[in-house]
Amino acid sequence: MKAIKKEVFNRLISSLIKSYEVIAPVKKELVSFEVIKRPEEIYFKTNSYFPVKEFFFKKNETLFRFNGNNVKVPVKKPKKKVLIGLRRCDLNSILRQDMAFIDEDVDAYYKKERENCVLIGYHCSKVEDEYCFCGSLKLLDFFDLMLYDKGKSFLVEVGSKKGEKFVKRYKQFFKESKVKKIDKVVKGSDRLKKKDISSLYDHADWEKGVKRCLSCAACNLLCPGCYCFDINDKVEIKDLSKGERCRTWAACQLRCFTRVAGEHVFRDKREDRFKHRIYHQLQYFKEKHGVNLCTGCGRCIRGCPTRIDFVKIINEMK
Ligand code: SF4
Ligand code: SF4
Repeated sequence: MKAIKKEVFNRLISSLIKSYEVIAPVKKELVSFEVIKRPEEIYFKTNSYFPVKEFFFKKNETLFRFNGNNVKVPVKKPKKKVLIGLRRCDLNSILRQDMAFIDEDVDAYYKKERENCVLIGYHCSKVEDEYCFCGSLKLLDFFDLMLYDKGKSFLVEVGSKKGEKFVKRYKQFFKESKVKKIDKVVKGSDRLKKKDISSLYDHADWEKGVKRCLSCAACNLLCPGCYCFDINDKVEIKDLSKGERCRTWAACQLRCFTRVAGEHVFRDKREDRFKHRIYHQLQYFKEKHGVNLCTGCGRCIRGCPTRIDFVKIINEMK
């Protein structure tokens, strides 16, 4: 275990900003991950309202430009990144997106953004609010470095070879700590009581959520794990052979998500869409990858305009 005083940490960040794109939670009206220019911008007090995924899985991305049969893939080389202040739920969401975009089939666009980046976590000393449930989901230690806030300093746990190399490179900023082990349990975060929902699909209680759901898709867009996308061609009106192929985030809560040729919508009922998201988060992804897609960050509940708490609904099912 290493240690770093907070004023020294700020000097480290100032030095990183010279050679990396440094991304951290910043508080404006709401907290979001942004590229920072000064260490004082970092906001550790609460987790970001918005997920960090857009730095790897872009909201809008040009896959290639075409002019007749001539196709050009953009050759932008992403900058080296250091991401700071990621909570355990968000770090595990990056791991889930790696499973979908790298382990399953390599997505070159995503992979390029994920390479050359250092992940520095910030451990939650308590639950953010009544919506968190990370403690129910067996999350892993997935970070290069993890910061434990000790008031005037941080304890720093090294979690990977990349983290070791980073500490070595910036060794003048870190000190050895006598602390050998740290308690990582976040009290009160084990809120989801039923871990296996496979037998509950036809339960009448889903209606408690379905009847309040507006199909607005805020839950999808705020989720750090959701990774569905659409692909569209934007063509030039004057010459339809010219244009670009783009991908944008998609959302399974929108009716158009499952609209196919012939105007057939195979998840036409709101109930089916509502349950599909929760089953993908808590069952289908696990069947394929061995872990839940959901990491219990609570954003989809916090940001839902009608505050539908699917954890409460599941817990109350008899
Ligand atoms: S954010 Fe809430 S209302 Fe909107 S689609 Fe999701 S569950 Fe439904
Ligand atoms: S489903 Fe909800 S609680 Fe789970 S990771 Fe996504 S936003 Fe967070």
